Amino acid sequence: MKISYKPFELILRHPFTIAKFSRTSTPIMLMELSHEGFTGYGEASMVPYMGENIETANSFMSKVDLSWLKPPFNFDELIAYLDGIAPGNPNIKAAIDIALQDLRGKIEQKACYKYFNTDPAKMPPTSYTLGIDTPEVLLQKIKEGEHCHIIKVKLGRDNDKELINTIRSATDKPLYVDANQGWKDRQQGLDMVLWLHEQGVVLIEQPMAKEDPDSNAWITERSPVAIVGDESVQRFADVEKAKGVYHGINMKLMKSAGMHEGYRMIMKAKELGLKTMIGCMSETSCGTLAAAALAPLCDWADLDGPFLTSNNPYKDPEFADGKWVLTDTPGLGLIKF
Ligand code: MG
Repeated sequence: MKISYKPFELILRHPFTIAKFSRTSTPIMLMELSHEGFTGYGEASMVPYMGENIETANSFMSKVDLSWLKPPFNFDELIAYLDGIAPGNPNIKAAIDIALQDLRGKIEQKACYKYFNTDPAKMPPTSYTLGIDTPEVLLQKIKEGEHCHIIKVKLGRDNDKELINTIRSATDKPLYVDANQGWKDRQQGLDMVLWLHEQGVVLIEQPMAKEDPDSNAWITERSPVAIVGDESVQRFADVEKAKGVYHGINMKLMKSAGMHEGYRMIMKAKELGLKTMIGCMSETSCGTLAAAALAPLCDWADLDGPFLTSNNPYKDPEFADGKWVLTDTPGLGLIKF
């Protein structure tokens, strides 16, 4: 068994602004795990607001007993072992999980999606995300996202309506909205939800602060649009708490510590009657393919990492008719340049 992990700065095509911050690149840890001639690839995307960085990821890795990172692949035991080292660090845990899932598929000559009984024919279309921007840049970005059938827009500032009006002047595609906890007053939030409903918005992520389930639940109860918990729902234990607060959850591999727990979260949400969305951070093709392997289990997908970055170290996955295409290549199907 051989392991390597190295930092990589993933550059964004445009500076990305949401309700709480703005940035131009994202630190990534690229991981490779080799065993008997096979190599599995993983990645950790360390968006600053999650609190993990290259240093904390390196420190976590220094505590991992490497004898875990090879067959037999018991992911329940692996995740329990990793959580025993430290309760946090979901990003670097995701890198380990994804690399091992890829490695297992390659050794056993099986595409990753088959381990999760995913039906590639049920792949949901992926949305294309617009950060908060000037009308000119927004219109340019809408053009750049022409190959996607859905637009996702970040709101949560005081010019939300203006932004939506700009988008609607250019396209009538369905819209996903992400408020990123940016709305401060529940009545104002609800007024906005009702207005967005009239504008053809299909779902709204995290209207109010994650620490305020009562206000989020109050909006959900009254909303004709699906309200989805994102920042509120990180790991498996959070899924149960989302019931009664949101209509659905947004599962991301960088929050769930990888595909194994991400799959369990999706299944748990379905069991509870919650809708499911699969999202991403700024990610390369590696994280995108890992998420795409689970995406057909979900109602909605927001997996636009490769579209929004300019130095993806891997080949873009196959994309057709607004959707990622799952292939039967063993493992994730990732192609390194
Ligand atoms: Mg979100």
